[in-house]
Amino acid sequence: MINEPHKIPAVSNLLSLADTSILIEQHGLKLVTICAQKVLSDVRKRIGEGISVDNDALSEMIQDEVSRFTQPSLRRVFNLTGVILHTNLGRAQLPESALKAIINVAKDPTNLEFDLHTGKRGDRHEHTQELLCYLTGAEASIIVNNNAAAVLLTLNSLAKRKEVLISRGELVEIGGSYRMPDIIVNAGCKLLEVGTTNCTNEADFQRALGPKTAILMKVHPSNFEVRGFTRSVSNSSMARIAKSANVPFVTDLGSGLLTSSDNNCLQDEMTVVEVLRAGADLATFSGDKLLGGPQAGIIVGRTDLIKKLKRNPMMRALRPDKMTIAALEAVLKLHTNPKQLRKNLPTMRFMSRDFSELKSAAARIAPELRRHCNEFCVTESFTQSQVGSGALPTQKIDSFGLKITPIDTKNKSSKKLTSLAYAFRNLPIPVVGRISADAMWLDLRCLEDEPGFVKNIKSLQIK
Ligand SMILES: *Cc1c(COP(=O)(O)O)cnc(C)c1O
Repeated sequence: MINEPHKIPAVSNLLSLADTSILIEQHGLKLVTICAQKVLSDVRKRIGEGISVDNDALSEMIQDEVSRFTQPSLRRVFNLTGVILHTNLGRAQLPESALKAIINVAKDPTNLEFDLHTGKRGDRHEHTQELLCYLTGAEASIIVNNNAAAVLLTLNSLAKRKEVLISRGELVEIGGSYRMPDIIVNAGCKLLEVGTTNCTNEADFQRALGPKTAILMKVHPSNFEVRGFTRSVSNSSMARIAKSANVPFVTDLGSGLLTSSDNNCLQDEMTVVEVLRAGADLATFSGDKLLGGPQAGIIVGRTDLIKKLKRNPMMRALRPDKMTIAALEAVLKLHTNPKQLRKNLPTMRFMSRDFSELKSAAARIAPELRRHCNEFCVTESFTQSQVGSGALPTQKIDSFGLKITPIDTKNKSSKKLTSLAYAFRNLPIPVVGRISADAMWLDLRCLEDEPGFVKNIKSLQIK
């Protein structure tokens, strides 16, 4: 029994234990040694606190430490937050066809930048160009890493050391460190604020035009809404003013909806087609928001401007990899048949899921949950989902799920909820819900693998 510091074995002794030898064979001497050292240093501390261990316990601790180290850091989780496109949970889930496309190009060499017709160097943007032009009505397109990169590249290519005119009401912060004024400055441009927070008129833009004006820009107010006395300049008016000044009009759409025909909650959102038709010279949007594809930034619009963007040395640093292009191409193909999107594209499928379907899922899951949440009350409950990722910020989608509340609400209910949420995150497939109003909510809108979820919660251990 090891219960005093001087009885703690040397690392070399631990490494010769039978179980540890197997670990060394599987994972290599270096990794196991580091894990053994960590275990011993933890044990040293805990012996001071009066704990004792034996060799079996030590070898088990080493095993646990090695498992912790070798387990992937990036793991699948269940998103039951009710936010369909959750940035922290990786946004859009890809459709089957995109997964196949990724595996196909990841495994083998591809014609990424190789023209199979001429045998000469090709262009990686060509693979999605025809589809993008077909879907948006644009002349040309390019793909970059994300929409932030798309905006950065556009500004730097067209307005370096010159002025970007933008309404004060559209100087948005998307989240984290993405703030429009900072992006403009970091792209090497000068920001010229136009109008006021709530009202900007055409005349404000006309007055702001000058010899250094390089771009008129419009930014989608993705994650907020200004109500009351408000006025903004429409895409078509912006386009007209830009044309009269002979400068491009660029619009950052954020989500980049392609078609709204089939979904009620998308009716008020302008599509990329509409924005280009209204006269935008370039439009930028994300691949993993309402488009439902991989993380990417898409720029569509005038051929001459796209050419300038492609020539920017920054392009090399922002270009997407072959897996992104493969997945994006597959997702764009699905968009050519909008009627089938509700079936084939997870993002659209989640958005349009039937309320009664969610209600019956809740009824099936509730008894399973009750079995594993002893000190909690599990009720089937109405809730509301959101699209998320700055798409349709004020739009709520009626949904259904499970509300879990501590039975004994007198003491420390917040502490109990914290332990509950931890227990869910600690499951073999972590479950992420939402805590609000003294309850933990599991919104079932994005749950498709119900058998997997039910099997998973059998391991729930609330401490
Ligand atoms: C989301 C968003 C961005 C950033 O897009 P990423 O793809 O996350 O880089 C930029 N602008 C607007 C208006 C957005 O909504």
